[in-house]
Amino acid sequence: MQKLIITAALTGNVPTKELNPALPITIDEIVEDAKKCRELGASIAHMHVRDSKGKPTSDRALFKELLEKIEAEKIDIITQLSTGARGGGNTIEWRSQMLDLNTDMASLATGSSNFPTSVNANSPELIKALADKMYENGIKPEIEAFDVAMISYSKWLLKKGILKGPLHFNLVMNIPGSIEGTPKNLLFMVDSLPEGSTWTVSGIGKSQIPMITLAIILGGHVRTGLEDTLMYSKGVPATNSMLIERVVRIAKELGREIATTEEAREILGL
Ligand code: MG
Repeated sequence: MQKLIITAALTGNVPTKELNPALPITIDEIVEDAKKCRELGASIAHMHVRDSKGKPTSDRALFKELLEKIEAEKIDIITQLSTGARGGGNTIEWRSQMLDLNTDMASLATGSSNFPTSVNANSPELIKALADKMYENGIKPEIEAFDVAMISYSKWLLKKGILKGPLHFNLVMNIPGSIEGTPKNLLFMVDSLPEGSTWTVSGIGKSQIPMITLAIILGGHVRTGLEDTLMYSKGVPATNSMLIERVVRIAKELGREIATTEEAREILGL
C-alpha cells in the first residue's frame, strides 16, 4: 500500500475567526500553520487567501506573497492553490489569475453543484480554461469531485485530451449540496475513478473521522484542516495542528505509514 499523503486544508473560503480564532487568515498565519502541519506529517498545503478584511479572494498578488514566503521559510511542502468558486469572483480571468505562479498543484472542480448558500459554478468553458493554464505552467490539477458526475466528466475530459492522466482526485463529501459522506458512497466514488488515479478524501463536518479512517484503510489519502472541520469534537474547537495530529494517530493505529513530501511527490508524479 502507498504511504499516506496528508493534505492540510488550512483556511478555506467559508470559516471565520469569529467561528474559530485559530483560523489562519493572514499570510504570516497561513505560513506558520503550513510549517507546523509539515512538521506533524502533512505533505501538501491546500491554500486559500483572504483580503485585508478577512474576506476570501483569488488575488494573484496575495497568492504570490504566500508562495514566496513558504519558499523563503524553506518549508518543504507541496503547494496547492485553490481556484474555487467562492474566491470573490467567478469570471475565468478571476478564477485563473494565480495559475502562472510557481505552485506544484491547484484545485480544479470538474462540474457544478450547490454549496449551502451559493452555486458551485464551474462551466465547461471555465474547466477547460483552468486546466489549459495549469498544464501550460506545469501545475498538476487536483480534481475536486463533489459528486460522482464530476468523476464521469473528468473521464470525458481525459478522452478529449483536456485532462492528462494519471489524475489525482479529492473526493469532497458531505457539504450540503454534494454527495453525502457515507462509507457506501465513498466506495462508489473510489470504484468510479479512472484507472491509475490517486485520491484523497475531504469528509466535511461530522463525516470527517469516518471518511478519513476508511480512506486510510482503503489505501487512499486524506485531507483535513480547518477548511473542512472547525470543531475537533463537540464543543472543542480545532486547530490545524490538532487535526493533522489526529490523522497521524489514526494512521499509526491502522499500520499505515505517512509519506514524506518527497514520497508524496513521487506518488503524485510531481
Ligand atoms: Mg479549498
